[in-house]
Amino acid sequence: MSYYFTDALESLTSVARVQQQQVFERWMELDTQLTELRRDRERPSSFRLDAHLDVILRCIEDEQSGFISDQGDIRKGGALWLQISLSKQWLFSTYELFRTTVEKSTCLEGTTGTQFCQPKSKKCPRCNVLRVKQELSSFRIPLAKHEPAGCNDYKDSNFHSQMMFEKDGGSVGWKNQGYPSKINDKVVTSRRELSDFVLDALTANL
Ligand SMILES: [Zn+2]
Repeated sequence: MSYYFTDALESLTSVARVQQQQVFERWMELDTQLTELRRDRERPSSFRLDAHLDVILRCIEDEQSGFISDQGDIRKGGALWLQISLSKQWLFSTYELFRTTVEKSTCLEGTTGTQFCQPKSKKCPRCNVLRVKQELSSFRIPLAKHEPAGCNDYKDSNFHSQMMFEKDGGSVGWKNQGYPSKINDKVVTSRRELSDFVLDALTANL
C-alpha cells in the first residue's frame, strides 16, 4: 500500500507551519481568545484546523507570486483549482467560527443579534467578533448562496461573485457584494488580505 497522498499532506503541513511560524502562532493566540469568549472548555483547539489551512494557502500564494515573477503569469492546472477551492473553504470555515463565537459570547453592554454597542466600543470583544463576521459575510454570501448579501432578487436565478486573482501577491480575491467593506475602499479583496484583517482586527483588540 502506498501512502502518497497522506505522506504529501503530512509534508505540506509540516513545511507550512515552519515557513509561516509567526502567522501560525497568531492563529493559536486568536484560537485561545475566541475559545474563551465562547466559554468552550471542551474544544479549545478546534480552530487549529483552520489555522493549518491558512498557512498552507499562504505558502501556495507565495509560490504563485514567485511563479508570476519568473514566468509572467499564474501557475495554472490542478494546483490553481485546488487553491481556488481551498480559499473558498477557508472563508466559509473561518466565517462559521466567528458566527458561532458571536452567538456564544456576551456583549459588554448587553447588545444582541446584529446590533453593536452604542456608541461603538472597540473594547467589546463580542462586537469586534461581530464586525469581522460581517466583513467575511459580504464575501461569503455570494459564494455560498449565489446571491448578493441582503438582496432577495435572485430567488429564481443565480448571482455569481466575481473572482479575481491578485497577480502581485498570488492570492485569490473576491468582489465585495454586500456590507460596505471596512478594508479600504477596494472593490476586490484578496483572501490574504481577509486573513490579515482577521488576525489584525482581533489580536490587537481582544
Ligand atoms: Zn458589545
